[in-house]
Amino acid sequence: MPSVQRSSDVVESHSERAVMSGIAGVILLALGGVLWMFRGDGMFSILSLMLMAGGLGAVIYAAVCIAQARKVTCFKIECPYCHSAVSLLTAPDRDVSCRSCLRMIPIVDGKPIAVTQVRCGYCNALNYYSDKTIVLLCEECNHEIPISRADGQVAHSRFAVVDDERFYELKLVGFEHPTEDLLSTLQQALALNRNQVKDMLGELPVTLLSGIPKKKAEMLTAQLNLHGASCQFYPLN
Ligand SMILES: [Zn+2]
Ligand SMILES: [Zn+2]
Repeated sequence: MPSVQRSSDVVESHSERAVMSGIAGVILLALGGVLWMFRGDGMFSILSLMLMAGGLGAVIYAAVCIAQARKVTCFKIECPYCHSAVSLLTAPDRDVSCRSCLRMIPIVDGKPIAVTQVRCGYCNALNYYSDKTIVLLCEECNHEIPISRADGQVAHSRFAVVDDERFYELKLVGFEHPTEDLLSTLQQALALNRNQVKDMLGELPVTLLSGIPKKKAEMLTAQLNLHGASCQFYPLN
């Protein structure tokens, strides 16, 4: 698919042709004129007339090109990242690259959509995403930056940099009191009913979850520690 044409490119190509044929026309006219003056007894008059006719044609063509360049339509959009103006021939039907900041401008219904700023958690570089972004990789360090999506999900790519890809088993090894908070935290985390959780607490140590990423094991451990419980987790392989 050809990309959306930029007005500046089209104007440039028209102007280039105008300049080229304008110069050629002037040179031909001048040569014809010189020959006409030194035509002697008619030897060069036909050649001189031909040169001048060619020169005139070239000058007219240059004028046509200038007129075309003036007629070029211009559809201006603003880059949502760097705010520079981008002029296109028509309303864009797909994403357009910005020549100032080299980012792709997300287009919906012929207009650029808003972008959200986010800082990279690894290198603190400023990054941007829009509703069209599926996965955001930091422009500086290529780490994946989790972005919250309209549906509340967090998108992750399979190219993301993951420090630990192993799966973990999380065990509950002890607790001070079976407090209300501890019970409801366990209920929520494990999707069990109250009685199941109480039964579970009667037989320590007990495996809470198996095959979970380290992040999740750490998160749950921290949560349960708050309620007086102690946990351990081990990698499965
Ligand atoms: Zn830009
Ligand atoms: Zn980064």
